[in-house]
Amino acid sequence: MALIANVTIGILAMQGAFAEHQVMLQKLSLKSRMVIVLVRTPEDLARCDALIIPGGESTTIALLARLAGLLGPLREFVKSKPVWGTCAGAILLAQSVEGAKKGGQELLGGISATVARNGWGSQIESFEAPLEVEGMRDPERPFQGVFIRAPVVVALHPSPSDPPIQIVSRISASLLPRTQTLVPYDEDDTDPRDPRTIVALRQGRHLLTSFHPELTKDDRFHEYFVRECVLPTLA
Ligand code: GLN
Repeated sequence: MALIANVTIGILAMQGAFAEHQVMLQKLSLKSRMVIVLVRTPEDLARCDALIIPGGESTTIALLARLAGLLGPLREFVKSKPVWGTCAGAILLAQSVEGAKKGGQELLGGISATVARNGWGSQIESFEAPLEVEGMRDPERPFQGVFIRAPVVVALHPSPSDPPIQIVSRISASLLPRTQTLVPYDEDDTDPRDPRTIVALRQGRHLLTSFHPELTKDDRFHEYFVRECVLPTLA
């Protein structure tokens, strides 16, 4: 699908899978009208219409962002421009986090949800699962979700003063983690509306995915972000 875009998209390039996001954005149609900026300074961020925060390590990304003088500008950016957080980026976009680094960790906020860091378990408990995604191109073709020490959405905090939360994708309740301590799994609890089954959600112009679309060869999530979250804000 051709994207009619004249837009500057930043990718926070402190640590993690920022290069993979860049490759995915470059694959989108009409990329010549889309400028991609690897964001390392407040000046880089000021050029952007939208931002992607990659997977990696949320505590490291936050620490490096602080050292770069970016934490304040990022918090301001989130208030007015579209931001997509994948995995560690999703943690940064959450309102609060369970299982934070000792002594706490800094977040940007922007999405009214609490996530449990490493909620699916450790690195060896990484897994992939085919996902149905609401509003994506070729919806009958599942999107392969790559989950690596991913956060689990443990609670939503909808409020009339915030944009509504829209669930974009859920994982089967039978795939919820069984062994880890943060989110105890109950064999009989297979309620498909359980917030823990949410793996992608939108709130206003922001997008949160607990998995890593940038580690696949499928550009449909990147297209979705640009088409659904970014371009409407420029119209
Ligand atoms: N668990 C990591 C964190 O706390 C995120 C892992 C990932 O991005 N793959 O940031």
